[in-house]
Amino acid sequence: MKRRDFFTKAALAGGALALGNSCGRKIEKTPDILTSVQKPGEKVSKFITEPARSIPVFAETDVLVIGGGPAGTAAAIAASKTGASVWLIERYNHLGGLWTGGEVLPLLSTHAIDQNHNKKQVIYGLGDEMWQRLKTLGMSIDEVNPVIDPEAGKFVLEQMIIASGVKLLYHTYAANVIMDGNTIKGVFIENKSGRSVIMAKMVIDCSGDGDIFHLAGEDYENMKYHIGLVHRLGNVDKINPNKPGFVKYPIGSKTPITGVNWVNMHGKDDQDGTDALNLSNLQVEYRQQIWKDYQKMKQTPGYEQLYILDTASQLGVRMSRIVDADYKLTLEDTMTYKKFKDVIGISGAWTPMLYKGKKVAVADRPLWQIPLRSLVPKKTEGLLVAGRCFCFEKELVEDTRIIGTCLITGHGAGVAAGLAIKDRQSVRDLDLKKLEKELLSQNVYLG
Ligand SMILES: Cc1cc2nc3c(=O)[nH]c(=O)nc-3n(C[C@H](O)[C@H](O)[C@H](O)COP(=O)(O)OP(=O)(O)OC[C@H]3O[C@@H](n4cnc5c(N)ncnc54)[C@H](O)[C@@H]3O)c2cc1C
Repeated sequence: MKRRDFFTKAALAGGALALGNSCGRKIEKTPDILTSVQKPGEKVSKFITEPARSIPVFAETDVLVIGGGPAGTAAAIAASKTGASVWLIERYNHLGGLWTGGEVLPLLSTHAIDQNHNKKQVIYGLGDEMWQRLKTLGMSIDEVNPVIDPEAGKFVLEQMIIASGVKLLYHTYAANVIMDGNTIKGVFIENKSGRSVIMAKMVIDCSGDGDIFHLAGEDYENMKYHIGLVHRLGNVDKINPNKPGFVKYPIGSKTPITGVNWVNMHGKDDQDGTDALNLSNLQVEYRQQIWKDYQKMKQTPGYEQLYILDTASQLGVRMSRIVDADYKLTLEDTMTYKKFKDVIGISGAWTPMLYKGKKVAVADRPLWQIPLRSLVPKKTEGLLVAGRCFCFEKELVEDTRIIGTCLITGHGAGVAAGLAIKDRQSVRDLDLKKLEKELLSQNVYLG
């Protein structure tokens, strides 16, 4: 696989090592431009009590999905295919999350090695349908770990949501939960119309950062990781390396549009993705840095026609909250073809891993199953968690946070939620034969 820019952080606790190469820039210094008086992480000392008020019920639904990233889009469509009524809430103006709005364009982990040592595609179901639709539009390149165009991604995912009958609400933030004991009953939302409520029989947290399970009082770990900001460059095909004085700079990797590259950024290590002030500061700092670097390039012979097409509208938070669920998926599970009775899908591999002190090349890495129990939070009833915040041990982070895996967990959560509602039971008591049958009928690969 040719991944020039996707930088992976090595030396995770426990000895797992995801290896990669990168020309993504590392940012170490906070520029003077930041004038905030309060520092990220500083404790707030003053509080005000908000008066109680009546809040209108905006909608009542079977399934409520929070977050329209890869996981949330797949979850919403999958639930609706089971016959459930579904609302999907997204704070921005597009679907795809980091995949589109974050300009993180390669759909990684589409393939891995089966037990007969054959390399095979593992991402099927809705993820595959998104990919095939993008291919038909000419907006996806590469047959393994395809790279897509972000605007086409937003268009295709939205088309699929429209066709599925899911009710979509953009520009809306999930702000709090309604609990009855340890059961989630609905979510408070905030938007230009004010504050309102959506009541739901099942809620699926696909916010990436686990906002909903955090608000519900679930246990979790907040993993600090490196945060970046992706941008795109135009006219890269007009760079002239034959000009006297030319210097080679990192210009990222190609996209489906000729002359347009996406440029990844490693960014600062150990960042808290749930600290708003930190996110705001990083956003400012990174955009300034990107423009500074660009201006230097532009003044270099050969780069005269280069331009910044855009910086991503979503900051690149790689990891934050990881939920505590009924089963914590382990590195061992993923390296040993571990089979689960409650399997909801299979994901692949895109990077070498350290396992028992040995580096396992991508070409030798097994496909791996994901159990439903890793999406079922320990304490909260009526809630499922999909996407990069489901339950796994941190050694696995380079596999679990990847778009392919997020699509699979989203798809599985949607099916499980829909079936639980149909059979009027907890997801914990689902008939696993029925689960398997519905997943297969929705074209999910189960091995
Ligand atoms: C810089 C960077 C590079 C990466 N490179 C790759 C790569 O090359 N290939 C790859 O496969 N993966 C890559 N990843 C990982 C991958 O992009 C993400 O982990 C994946 O998109 C996560 O999917 P998700 O659906 O769980 O969450 P997200 O994509 O984060 O989507 C969550 C959605 O929920 C919305 N949301 C959040 N909170 C709320 C709220 N309270 N109310 C309403 N909406 C809310 C957000 O706006 C967002 O649209 C990269 C990540 C980063 C940051």
